[in-house]
Amino acid sequence: MADRRVAAPPPATPPARDAPAEEEDPATLLAGLPPTSAVCVQCDPDSSPPPALVAAFSALLRAIGEDPSREGLRLTPERAARALRFLTSGYALCPRDVVGDAKFVVDVPSCGGGGMEARLPGGRGMGAPLRGGGGMVVVRDIELHSLCEHHLLPFHGRVHVGYLPGAVVLGLSKLARITQIFARRLQIQERLTQQIAAALMDEIQPRGVAVVVECLHMCMAMRGVEQRAAVTTTNAMQGAFADDPSLRQEFWSSIRTPRSML
Ligand SMILES: [Zn+2]
Repeated sequence: MADRRVAAPPPATPPARDAPAEEEDPATLLAGLPPTSAVCVQCDPDSSPPPALVAAFSALLRAIGEDPSREGLRLTPERAARALRFLTSGYALCPRDVVGDAKFVVDVPSCGGGGMEARLPGGRGMGAPLRGGGGMVVVRDIELHSLCEHHLLPFHGRVHVGYLPGAVVLGLSKLARITQIFARRLQIQERLTQQIAAALMDEIQPRGVAVVVECLHMCMAMRGVEQRAAVTTTNAMQGAFADDPSLRQEFWSSIRTPRSML
């Protein structure tokens, strides 16, 4: 296997249309993908929180009958403001900021030797060049922590992502980073799930994306119906996963099988 990090300016001269896919330059394969420049402003969660936010937390403490000046709460408004700023830092980021140049063209030798790191059992594409159609890549059990926009209470759980590569694959850690961008906002689980799938479609233009999110919601556990064990599952299927029930089945099976001994 030969991974080649690609810095991606489109080639000055496009290759001949009848060039075989195996001989295409990686830059050509990436030419149709979005540029990798960081265009969003990244907030610094360690910087001083806005005074208005600190004042709002002081007012909140007073509103529930507390005394913000007592010793235990003296620094709480600033701490809470800093924490909320971090927990909502995803507003200042977009997926392109974290994907950067972590897009790779992966060559799989025709004998299948070397394999592919993220290849799943089932071996789609085994024995053939990966370009333009590799096997399903699945990363499961990505940790998720977010805040529900209805109650400002946490929900947490796991994200499972699968995709069928097009021209490129994505650095695996970037799936977790994309998840964090959308989790660090006020959210509902349904929208979060769709946003992760849409971001992957936009950034690496795979043949299909499948995202499943499983979460426990503190607004259900600590208040209201007080269901501490109720798990909410949402999913988003795009591209080939929306069209092909057998692909969906393969994905669901891969995230439901017991974890291997790693
Ligand atoms: Zn809620």
